[in-house]
Amino acid sequence: MKEKTRLVNAGRHPERFAGLVNTPIFRGSTILHATMAEWEDKKRRRAADEHGASTYGRFGTPTHHALEEAVAELEGGCRSQLFPSGLAACTTVLTALLAAGDHVLLTDSAYSPTRGFLTRVLSRFGVETTVYDPTCGAGIEAFIRPNTRVVYVESPGSETFEVQDIPAIAEAAHRHGAKVVMDNTWGTPLFFKPFEHGVDVSIQAATKYIVGHSDAMLGIATCTEETWPLVKRAAQDLGQTAGPDDAYLALRGLRTMNVRLQQHWKSGVEVASWLETRPEVERVLHPALPSHPGHALWKRDFLGACGLFAVVLKPASPAAVEAFIDTLQLFGIGVSWGGYESLVIPFNPAGDRTTTQWPHKGQALRLHIGLEDPADLIADLENGFAALAQVESAPVPLRA
Ligand SMILES: *Cc1c(COP(=O)(O)O)cnc(C)c1O
Repeated sequence: MKEKTRLVNAGRHPERFAGLVNTPIFRGSTILHATMAEWEDKKRRRAADEHGASTYGRFGTPTHHALEEAVAELEGGCRSQLFPSGLAACTTVLTALLAAGDHVLLTDSAYSPTRGFLTRVLSRFGVETTVYDPTCGAGIEAFIRPNTRVVYVESPGSETFEVQDIPAIAEAAHRHGAKVVMDNTWGTPLFFKPFEHGVDVSIQAATKYIVGHSDAMLGIATCTEETWPLVKRAAQDLGQTAGPDDAYLALRGLRTMNVRLQQHWKSGVEVASWLETRPEVERVLHPALPSHPGHALWKRDFLGACGLFAVVLKPASPAAVEAFIDTLQLFGIGVSWGGYESLVIPFNPAGDRTTTQWPHKGQALRLHIGLEDPADLIADLENGFAALAQVESAPVPLRA
């Protein structure tokens, strides 16, 4: 079955739900059983890890199970587990795979709250973290210790968009008995197939493109047969449970994810290419542009690009940068991404990175290109640049 068809059909079972096209929202805590025999049978099926055999709301309802089934199929893994947020998926997976005395290798380009969980929380439980250069590729081997259990990758990196050589990193990690955990949010289940590249657990902040409409928070971890029991156990030990309404919104978003992403990809490249021609721009960090240092790896391993990238402006006064951002009408100022709308947020990776040097002096901005007409977005950015120039060239007012 081809991908687009799979996206429409994965996890759907109308025959179980009165013929309804979509699995309805099942809200519930207690699940009743008619007889003791039925209760015992359910417990047995749950102990055997039968998907959907739930004895309590915390272990999921048919709404949750439909989304888990769909995402596991799309990512190409064995099983998936839902979480109330993307970050909860990241932290629970790390907790599942690590114990006191273990060592983790973390990419310098990781989503900073994930890094904070390792350095602020797991460090207190005897887990040591070493941060590595995301572009090291097979060179990761030099950092692997006898107690290294997890190599954490995120490609392209948060904010700075370095593309990692995941197959080379996975090969080295596996040779030394370590598992590869990937934050695959940028790649989405459609544009990067983690299990074909050696990943052992793939995490989606479903809040982004799977939900796709900026109206719910959700995380999903997809596992191999080997990592699944550990992740499932940890999710249950930590009481992780997502709301069924949010799972429904994610299922609804999922069905149109391919058409949305095709447009985010096309518009993102169009706006990024235009930005590259602007004199106010120092550089554009978008893996699908040939100018990107990770472009060859992106082309080799990815099947597309989402709408998220960064742009570094040439040095300008803070007031001019502020005028640029404030002039934009179609780019909301805010975090998160993956919705239908365009966003802009300034960032400074210098304070966040320890093994890599951020070479740029100008202001960095992360842009999310939404589903608006790219011509309107470009016109909006053009207005922003005009405002920037006006502030830069304004004479310094004389003080009385
Ligand atoms: C947003 C994000 C997360 C966290 O997801 P939440 O649902 O906001 O908790 C994790 N990783 C990446 C790369 C993200 O962009």
